[in-house]
Amino acid sequence: MNQPRKPFRINVGFLINQPIGYMREFPFEYETFQFGNDEKTENLKGTIRLIRTRSGVQALIDCSAQVDAQCVRCLDDFKEELTTSFQELYTFAREPLSEDEESVPEDGFIDFEESIGDYIFLELPIKPLCSRDCKGLCAVCGQNLNESACEHVARG
Ligand SMILES: [Zn+2]
Ligand SMILES: [Zn+2]
Repeated sequence: MNQPRKPFRINVGFLINQPIGYMREFPFEYETFQFGNDEKTENLKGTIRLIRTRSGVQALIDCSAQVDAQCVRCLDDFKEELTTSFQELYTFAREPLSEDEESVPEDGFIDFEESIGDYIFLELPIKPLCSRDCKGLCAVCGQNLNESACEHVARG
C-alpha cells in the first residue's frame, strides 16, 4: 500500500518568531492510513493546530477514523468510527520545565504520527458492538438474530 512517508512530521521552528497565541492549522485527510503495528485506518481525517505559547508550542489535535472491528455479540465484521481530541505541549527550552511537556527537537521537526495512532486506537472499545441494539446470535442454533429470528427466539 502506498502512503506518504511521515505526513505528520511538521517543522514547528517557524513558531519561534511568532507572537504568543499565533496559530497555524494543518488539516489532514487520508482514505487509508496504516500506523505502526499494522494498525489500519480508513477515512483518517483531522486537524493539527499549533499554537505559540510563552515557552514553546501547544499542539491541539482532533481526528477521526474508521477501523476494522468485530462485534462481540453477532461476530460480524464492521467499521467502528473512532474520534479523539488531545493536546501535547512542547518547549523551545533544552530541558522541559515540567513532566507535561517535551522539548522541541533541535531540528525543529515534531512527528505526531505515533501519538495520533495511540490516541485513535485508545478509543476502540474493549467490546465493540456493530450497533447498540445488536441482537446477537441464538445460543442454540447460532442464527444471526439481526438478520432473522429462529425457532428458539420469540418474535417481537
Ligand atoms: Zn453485532
Ligand atoms: Zn436458534
